[in-house]
Amino acid sequence: MTAEATIGARSRGLLALERARALVLSEARPLPPEPVDLASARGRVLAQEAASAADVPPFDNSAMDGYAVRAADTAAAEASAPVRLAVVGEARAGRPLGRPIGSGEAALISTGAPLPEGADAVVRIERARADGDAVLVAEPVTAGSDVRRAGEDIRAGETVLGAGTPLGPAELGVLASAGVARPLCARRPRVAIVSTGDELAAPGEPLAPGMIHDANRFTVPAQAEEAGCEVAALDSVPDEAEASAAAIAAHREADVVVVCGGVSVGRHDHVKDAFAAAGFEERFWGVALRPGRPTWFGVRDEGARRTLGFGLPGNPVSAMVTFALLVVPGIDAMTGRRAGPPRRVRATMDEPYAKRPGRAHAVRCRLELAPDGWHARPTKEQGSHILTSMLGADGLVIIATESAGVRAGDPVEVELLRPVS
Ligand code: AMP
Ligand code: MG
Repeated sequence: MTAEATIGARSRGLLALERARALVLSEARPLPPEPVDLASARGRVLAQEAASAADVPPFDNSAMDGYAVRAADTAAAEASAPVRLAVVGEARAGRPLGRPIGSGEAALISTGAPLPEGADAVVRIERARADGDAVLVAEPVTAGSDVRRAGEDIRAGETVLGAGTPLGPAELGVLASAGVARPLCARRPRVAIVSTGDELAAPGEPLAPGMIHDANRFTVPAQAEEAGCEVAALDSVPDEAEASAAAIAAHREADVVVVCGGVSVGRHDHVKDAFAAAGFEERFWGVALRPGRPTWFGVRDEGARRTLGFGLPGNPVSAMVTFALLVVPGIDAMTGRRAGPPRRVRATMDEPYAKRPGRAHAVRCRLELAPDGWHARPTKEQGSHILTSMLGADGLVIIATESAGVRAGDPVEVELLRPVS
């Protein structure tokens, strides 16, 4: 950052990261719920708790392929004197036997088939021997053997998932088992992303002198989607005031507008003014964070619609870090996410990290689980332009504003960039 920018930021006073985050949270409004088909609900956040109307499984059924029997009939069975039971039919998955089993009777049964009335145990197929219309059982089974009871997984009326739970594979499966076809979920936040800079070229385009490839156009939308958003628009604009303002103003339907680059104090940085021109009111600019100092945040209210606006610094690491530390909490507040994989863990720092007091540092770290908990180690050189420092980074170790660094073995807070447990 230029000396001018440093002075500009200082004179306005840099906001502590926690304070900046608290401001974002206080401005975010929960999005309205909507029913969502289970088939497309992955990544959505449940807006109200979900319960099962019926028992899961709905009926007593067999845990094994074998024979449904009355356990008492097998009590005297031994290898030298097997018990002979008449096989009266077959119960298959989805096709019940259709009649009760009496004393001295058995039925072939498949895994998941309803246990016939009268039967109370299953003899596994490998422990029985077919003998014409009968089956020979050479050892006793106890009542309940290899039987899965109705409601053993979920009881009728039981709450299976709380409000605020993000839906991953297991949650989708549990909702399906419970017969919930269209869970009520928070609407996905619609995010418009604008990449700014005269120097940006699309990957694949040849680079004229002074040009670089636009990385933020790929990192930030991917982060938005991983956080549960719908990327409603993706624009690139040059460093021009009108173009920036027009791009921001174009996305009135967005819940979040994220602009990357152009938010500092250079002569060609127009983003703050562009947000203002598009009707946003500034809440903060300048966070005591490295990387990420010139981050801007504001809100626009239009009728009932509230849009959060973020101006993230253009350096690719800064954009990713500020998205993770400031935009994602806002998104979570909009979707009501308050369960699921943690966003934060505590760890032991395995290497010393020195810094000057004044700004919190977000150190890209790899995490490893040891018997005494998580251990963190910086990925590599931490410059805000070293995007490869994000490779392999599981989280950001936050070294506090006033801290002069940490020693190896010190406990640290880690903001996770991806689920680790
Ligand atoms: P700015 O925040 O616009 O002052 O940009 C700071 C630094 O990040 C400059 O070196 C820019 O060239 C670089 N930068 C800005 N936007 C991007 C982008 N989309 N992809 C890669 N680098 C960028
Ligand atoms: Mg720029």
